[in-house]
Amino acid sequence: MITEEQALTRILERVEPLPRRLVPLLQAREQFAAADVFARVALPRFDNSAMDGYAVVAAACTGGRRQRLVGEQPAGLDRRLRIEPGETVRLFTGAPIPAGADAVVMQEDVRCEGSDVFVNTNVEAGEFIRRAGCDLSEGQKIVEAGTRLGPQMLALLASQGFAEIETGSEVRAAIVSTGDELVAPGGTLGPGQIFDSNSALLRALVEKCGASVEDVRHCPDDVLSIERAFRDGLGCDVLIILGGVSVGARDLVKPALNAVGAQTDLWRVLVKPGKPFLFGRAGSCSIFGLPGNPVSAFVTFLLFVRPALLRLMGARSDQVSLRRTTAILGGEVNNEGDRPHYVRGELVDGKFRAIGRQESHALYGLSRANALLRVPPGERFRAGEMVPVIPID
Ligand code: AMP
Ligand code: MG
Repeated sequence: MITEEQALTRILERVEPLPRRLVPLLQAREQFAAADVFARVALPRFDNSAMDGYAVVAAACTGGRRQRLVGEQPAGLDRRLRIEPGETVRLFTGAPIPAGADAVVMQEDVRCEGSDVFVNTNVEAGEFIRRAGCDLSEGQKIVEAGTRLGPQMLALLASQGFAEIETGSEVRAAIVSTGDELVAPGGTLGPGQIFDSNSALLRALVEKCGASVEDVRHCPDDVLSIERAFRDGLGCDVLIILGGVSVGARDLVKPALNAVGAQTDLWRVLVKPGKPFLFGRAGSCSIFGLPGNPVSAFVTFLLFVRPALLRLMGARSDQVSLRRTTAILGGEVNNEGDRPHYVRGELVDGKFRAIGRQESHALYGLSRANALLRVPPGERFRAGEMVPVIPID
């Protein structure tokens, strides 16, 4: 059996970013920028007022001197006004600063009598003026190739007038769950049956990565129907199979993959939960077989499928690993087994404690967990120790 590191290395060797594309800005959310982007517009674009107030010459305002109101400058157009010392222009937030002015006085700090404006405060040159280019200069690099485009990045690109942006490819996934015992939520359970929870889990996980789910299908443990579902799924970039990858007589995924001409690159990894994990390829489709127990499916998705999805979407190899942080351990955790164990737990205020049952079927504990602790084989972590943890929310 191979280690997690060997498995991930082998998977990442076989997946390459898909071709880049130009997409409308909002479709780029959570995608990876395909190229560096440079500012086309300085921010701010022109000197403008940070306040509703009055443009003045600071040196002419000492001792509450009277200013003569000579105009009004709203935001959104430039009236190209000019003032001399002792004159003032009414301004609104974001309005261009009239020529000759070197400060803005907040409207709360003046008293108006007709066209006389009395300044009730000390005024320093530069006050409440947002200078052109102080935030960002034209030509400056604003996005590095490979950057994940979150809401703030999209806002920055919008501020530069970009309606479209080049990103990595959309990655399309098909999900096939297998098992005679499974009934879709909303259906009626017969004796010995359970609801299919993994399809919902995997759809949500894939979409959270920023990939799109084209099809979710359930097959009974029948090799022909599984083969049919695989043939359809292989039209996607990624096929995710749930259950049926172990060594039982009802585990039909491997024979069905053989029958559709897929190649299995690796099967069984030294990890708990998730040992029966499988990775293979057919043409340009990457195939992931996840064990049916919900926690095994979750852990193997995070360890192996997520990095591959991100890589296909155009992430650099250094961006695909899970974020790690350290925490103080709330209670002793040990691993007497021969595989690294991913313990589910709760990370609150820098403290991690295991939560719920730690068997691979225990979905309730998983549903409340927000972090994983990897416990190497034979390791005993004591309460109060600093341990590396993996936030998962
Ligand atoms: P398998 O990997 O098919 O041997 O399944 C292992 C365990 O996971 C069994 O107890 C299955 O009933 C359960 N299981 C398999 N698929 C699902 C699913 N889609 N949703 C919930 N439980 C599942
Ligand atoms: Mg099964």
